[in-house]
Amino acid sequence: SCTRAMSTPTFPSKCFVDGKWVSASSGKTFPVHNPANGQVLTNVPSMVNTDVEKAISAASSAFQTWKTTPAKDRSILLRKWYDLINKKVDLFANLIHLEAGKSVAEAKTEVVYGNSFLEWFSEEARRAYGDVLCSPTNTKRLMHIRQPAGVAAVITPWNFPLAMITRKAGAALAAGCTCVVKPAEDTPLTALALAECAAEAGIPKGVINVVTAERSNAGPVGQLLCQSPLVSVVTFTGSTNVGKILYRHCAEGIKKISLELGGNAPFIVFNSADMDAATRGAIASKFRNCGQTCVSANRFLLQDSIHDKFVEKLNEAMDACLHLGPVQKTSSDTTQELGPLINEAQLKKVDHMVQDAIKKGAKVVRGGKRATHLGELYYEPTILADITPDMLCYNEEIFGPVVSCIRFKTEEEVLRIANSSESGLAGYFFSQDLSQIFRVAEALEVGMVGINEGAISTPEAAFGGVKQSGLGREGSYHGLEEFMEWKYMCFGNL
Ligand code: ADP
Repeated sequence: SCTRAMSTPTFPSKCFVDGKWVSASSGKTFPVHNPANGQVLTNVPSMVNTDVEKAISAASSAFQTWKTTPAKDRSILLRKWYDLINKKVDLFANLIHLEAGKSVAEAKTEVVYGNSFLEWFSEEARRAYGDVLCSPTNTKRLMHIRQPAGVAAVITPWNFPLAMITRKAGAALAAGCTCVVKPAEDTPLTALALAECAAEAGIPKGVINVVTAERSNAGPVGQLLCQSPLVSVVTFTGSTNVGKILYRHCAEGIKKISLELGGNAPFIVFNSADMDAATRGAIASKFRNCGQTCVSANRFLLQDSIHDKFVEKLNEAMDACLHLGPVQKTSSDTTQELGPLINEAQLKKVDHMVQDAIKKGAKVVRGGKRATHLGELYYEPTILADITPDMLCYNEEIFGPVVSCIRFKTEEEVLRIANSSESGLAGYFFSQDLSQIFRVAEALEVGMVGINEGAISTPEAAFGGVKQSGLGREGSYHGLEEFMEWKYMCFGNL
């Protein structure tokens, strides 16, 4: 059962293909580490293309029956999956805590958030309506129906090991697609445990398959998932660079693809802002998962007359709210625990950006270095001021606990800075001026805007970006769209 597989130290350690737990055909495995201390949690199969082909063909066979399974039945199965995960929130949270390094409290928030997509899509499954159209003549009647696209390839990152899968697989299954999930090599255990729960919920064999692969095989496996003639749609969340590679692969077969890529979120505080709300919003949007989320505030744009006050308030709030390393929580303690970064590469990238900014004249308000006394992968919550366009952190996604502050004078200037990015995922701003609120919300070149709010993700709303942040939307009633095709039917000679 789910419980056995997820309670430590027995981790799921095989892949899930066609309803069976399987090893790689070579027998090879690779280790999964706990980023907090570097310990190996378990080893999982190191699959290559021949293994993944079996998963694709299982998904393709299962599609033949899943696509004709009534929407209501698919809805019930998704709901059962949701209910089972709901009963195991602590177990999933522990798994995410161990393989992704999040605090248990934050991991629980992810489980609840991620699972809410299964609940949502179990409901949306029954609402994939079509249209009856106005016919131009009396001898014809016209109709649109929506049909599942086929097998979906689901490639996910490590920063939300559960939510990134449920948000995609929930929509795929609701639409009537089957899927092959390739989780990030850093966090495959949550994915495997999810598959086990899906099976326990009664989701038929082959409908969900999970294959694990080493980083060195991610390229070939990704290419196969995009180019197999048995796959109809690809959905990916991860870096912009990998997104571009997959988009190119998909061009070959004109595959549908949805991409959730990097962001470079502006977080604008105008002179009229409610400073307390802005500070709370900053903590929420910057420090969730230690800044390792694609909607994390990346550039703090602060208007002249509140610049210093905001930096001071944020600095105080960071003292009061954040704690680097494990905390012994009491029920009244609202401290947010910051864990390690996911791996060495990520830590080096963050530190490189910080040192680059300091070298080029940024002022260190706090932090600015690793916290080696806690472990190899901990980084101090940092504030840098006087950030300028020549610095890496001005243009690139930091993906770490670093606040970089830029001063501006006018609304026009700040919009120009905010929109100067190639990314356009989330954006946040704080203002009490109603006409400014509408102007800025409409002018920001992003897919999602938080207005006087730092935490915006929810299954009811469409998640996604513009420009190089991606294609398509996840969640909301639009989420099914990525996994469905419209069909037009013309009834003639009536
Ligand atoms: P990050 O930089 O956050 O690790 P990536 O885009 O590298 O983001 O990783 C996201 C997902 O993409 C992971 O599942 C990873 O294994 C996979 N991946 C990495 N490189 C490739 C590639 N060349 N082709 C396909 N998938 C890849």
